[in-house]
Amino acid sequence: MGLLSLGTPLSWEQAAQLAPHVRKHGIEQLLSVWREQGGRSDDPMLWGDEIEYVIVVFDEATKTARLSLRQEKILSVLETCCAQESVDPTERVTFHPEYGRFMIESTPGAPFDSTIAGLLDVERNMQLRRVLIRKNVEETELPMTITSFPRLGVTDAPFTEPAYEANGTASHSLFLPDEVINTHVRFPTLTANIRTRRGSKVAINVPIYKDEKTPSPFIDPTIPWDRDIFPEDPDAKNGAALEDHIYLDAMGFGMGCCCLQVTLQAASIRDACHIYDQLIPITPLLMAVSAASPAYRGYLADVDCRWNIISGAVDDRTAAERGVAPMGQEQLHNSPLTPARRLRKSRYAAVDSYLSSTETAVRNSDQPLEKDEEIEAYLQASGLEPALAAHFAHLFIRDPLVIFSERIEQEDSSSMDHFENIQSTNWQTMRFKPPPHGGHIGWRVEFRPMEVQLTDFENAAFSVFLMLLTRAIKALGTDLYMPITQVDENMARAQKRDAVHSQKFFFRRSWVPSDVQETKEYSVSELFLGTDEFPGFVPLVRRYLDSLDVTAGDRARLDEYIDLIAARASGTLQTAATYIRDYVRAHPAYRKDSVISEEINYDLLRHLDDVERGRVTAPNFLPESYAGHIAT
Ligand code: ADP
Ligand code: MG
Ligand code: MG
Ligand code: MG
Repeated sequence: MGLLSLGTPLSWEQAAQLAPHVRKHGIEQLLSVWREQGGRSDDPMLWGDEIEYVIVVFDEATKTARLSLRQEKILSVLETCCAQESVDPTERVTFHPEYGRFMIESTPGAPFDSTIAGLLDVERNMQLRRVLIRKNVEETELPMTITSFPRLGVTDAPFTEPAYEANGTASHSLFLPDEVINTHVRFPTLTANIRTRRGSKVAINVPIYKDEKTPSPFIDPTIPWDRDIFPEDPDAKNGAALEDHIYLDAMGFGMGCCCLQVTLQAASIRDACHIYDQLIPITPLLMAVSAASPAYRGYLADVDCRWNIISGAVDDRTAAERGVAPMGQEQLHNSPLTPARRLRKSRYAAVDSYLSSTETAVRNSDQPLEKDEEIEAYLQASGLEPALAAHFAHLFIRDPLVIFSERIEQEDSSSMDHFENIQSTNWQTMRFKPPPHGGHIGWRVEFRPMEVQLTDFENAAFSVFLMLLTRAIKALGTDLYMPITQVDENMARAQKRDAVHSQKFFFRRSWVPSDVQETKEYSVSELFLGTDEFPGFVPLVRRYLDSLDVTAGDRARLDEYIDLIAARASGTLQTAATYIRDYVRAHPAYRKDSVISEEINYDLLRHLDDVERGRVTAPNFLPESYAGHIAT
């Protein structure tokens, strides 16, 4: 997560009055850093991953697997461990809080370097983190890298340990008690302020996976339809919950999902824009191949990825901004100082524009961009290139959601708090990260669409593949610009069930900058493995590695990662989403009705743990060589 200031948070009504102040100073802070750091060049391609875990507590006697809400305790123990750790920088690790009180995030203690050896450090470092968490939780608890906990928010039995009733004033959820939210005041405030700004609870309807005996239409019998304690409660009855869908009504359903992110440092600001742009067309494709979340609130879903669920879970737009009510009504909830306008997307969504100001980049940014025109003009007049000015003017149409009363007045030449307030609550597929003050860190780009994988071998494979692809794109000078509207269409397709087999995706036919920039539709297999006329990402990466002086041993290790991505993309190996769905469907207690009972959930999670530890093999899912990659 972004910054975690301590202090007294303002209610939405108070915060709304200060939105112009935060925006104004946020932009000054950005400009201050840009003036200080805009000219830096030749920074090395340092990089690092972020992995999120859920802490599952198993009870063998009752055959239940629930979420443990001991985040604070576990983190405080881990903090002590980190303080006493190895001095070898590649072995240092760091842990962070996350939105869910059942979650933990880990990163390397220091970024990896840009050498092949640096790429090969990541898996061991991930393993150290996993093992360290494992050692510091209770015997019955386990950190698991699963993207969506299948029974988060069920109503037929408890799903957390300890259990609480869902009647929280922050989320108003029918399913998730506020006690599942990180207790740091920022998080319940964020939850409440999103709901207040929006003027209603968030509402997410995930299509249910229709199995042989799933009722049709499916009207969820587990929704407490009759609850009547919050103003929205009748909503669930009157249209918020759709037939044939799994209805979710709280931020925690989205922010409670885990993902894998990679941040990399660019040589300069211009290089950062270039890398950001070139990776945009890749975002939906690596998400599809990493698909790992086919289950929500005790049901199998007809989607494989978390993306739209988080997007809906933090959608703070008013009805008018979403375009489902006439303009004007939003003044009830919105800041009277923030001009009302239609906003096409949630704050959590795919990026809307390229960052370079070249003719090609500008032409392919074919989405009408909602912008704060005053900010755009000011940034341009201050010297920012037009596309970059437009990008920040677009992020800054959003209101700051959490403001601490102690941190309203800041020194714009040294603080980045107001900037980060808005930047870090624009959760897009890519994030352009300016350096902090001080000069020790450069311009960075974060790749955010991937789902977290069950094992560190896979998490390392996706991270390393992304890094190799980025370097190959840079070294070989490929040009991947394609219309943003088609990238958005690809994002929608990438989340569909079994997208690797069922979908086709737009992509540039030729990657040569001077060629005609025509797109065509390709399967995931074609995109990754290539065809007679289409280069393919895997051959590109291999060709790039061929041009380097890599030892046979290192190359063999890199090839294991590349082979895994190729196998997932071609369908030779299943995605985690397909593997999980198939496991549930084959379970003896499964009634072919899409329901994931406590018993199935317990066995599934036990099984996934056994797979991760190499106690059982999963030949459809992991290669034989996984045996050599088990975290110990
Ligand atoms: P956030 O949650 O804001 O995305 P984190 O601090 O959790 O940020 O993670 C950022 C990642 O960036 C970590 O893996 C970290 O090791 C890595 N990182 C740190 N410094 C640099 C740097 N100079 N260049 C590239 N990556 C870096
Ligand atoms: Mg995180
Ligand atoms: Mg983080
Ligand atoms: Mg991150």
